[in-house]
Amino acid sequence: IKTIGVLTSGGDAPGMNATIRSVVRTAIARGLRVMGVRKGYNGLIHGDIFELNSRSVSDTIQRGGTILQTARCPEFITEEGQKKGAQICKVFGIDGLIVIGGDGSFQGAEKLANLGINTIGIPGTIDLDIACTDYTIGFDTAVNTAMEAINKIRDTSTSHERCSIVEVMGRNAGYIALWCGITNGAEMVLIPEKERPSDEEIIREILQNKQRGKKHFLIIVAEGVGGSQELAVKIEKVTGIETRATILGYLQRGGSPSAVDRLHASMMGALAVDLLCEGKSNRVIAYKDGQYVDYDINEALKMTKTVDERMYEVAKTLSI
Ligand code: ATP
Repeated sequence: IKTIGVLTSGGDAPGMNATIRSVVRTAIARGLRVMGVRKGYNGLIHGDIFELNSRSVSDTIQRGGTILQTARCPEFITEEGQKKGAQICKVFGIDGLIVIGGDGSFQGAEKLANLGINTIGIPGTIDLDIACTDYTIGFDTAVNTAMEAINKIRDTSTSHERCSIVEVMGRNAGYIALWCGITNGAEMVLIPEKERPSDEEIIREILQNKQRGKKHFLIIVAEGVGGSQELAVKIEKVTGIETRATILGYLQRGGSPSAVDRLHASMMGALAVDLLCEGKSNRVIAYKDGQYVDYDINEALKMTKTVDERMYEVAKTLSI
């Protein structure tokens, strides 16, 4: 292997730059050339590709977003798009490609591997929703950002004896919500992995909570559950307690990556390059039981995981 490419795909996540930096510098240290592909598979199809050197990634480890930019590329889901991508890799002499993204991006990497391009996936998403790995780059920063924002909402909510509903990101997974539920001391967490209590059950809890002398009621709602505004209107109408819903949104995707994200990014990026050097392809990097490991992409995509039952239980117990 002489030349490798690197791209970021799907939603951006803090720590993607630290991953790119690790890939670039490890590759250069191993005597390889590195090409950066802009805007995910979109840039691959259109040949939006440029050479990266050690200095190209200077001063990036602490930056949020991705210097390579990212995109969703429907054309790449078609066989024709994938063939175009493989052809462009050959034009640029790219014989190994590192894809930083989520499950969708790994499916694209698998298709390229079938067309003769060695590919390695690195889990980069704030949602923590990749089954094969205990950690995905961006999660720690996103949870900390959400936690800080919720702290502030809680201050004002307690002062006014309000009920606050805060909706956090996570797509179809409840990890960010559950972590915020525990770390912000929420009274209730609604996640897609668990059956949603009825509006009446929620309202009963709020009223009982008030009788117990609590000055506020904080509900964390996962994006995959949604309906925060409607719930706020209903609670206020029935209880008379002032209720506000806040959807945190994209602020959770930005910001300087935490130490945890920078560390995982650096370790996973280096491992991805080493796997390509060993001639491996169609693999995805994972952090499992405290070790950095790799799995076949097909096997990884078949795995399933769900939120930690014990965490959900503890969140409930600590909300009394
Ligand atoms: P996240 O969910 O964190 O945003 P993701 O990688 O899962 O990340 P997707 O939008 O699902 O995000 O996928 C990103 C891109 O990967 C798609 O726009 C498409 O170009 C490519 N892709 C997704 N699914 C496939 C597939 N089945 N075959 C080929 N390419 C795919």
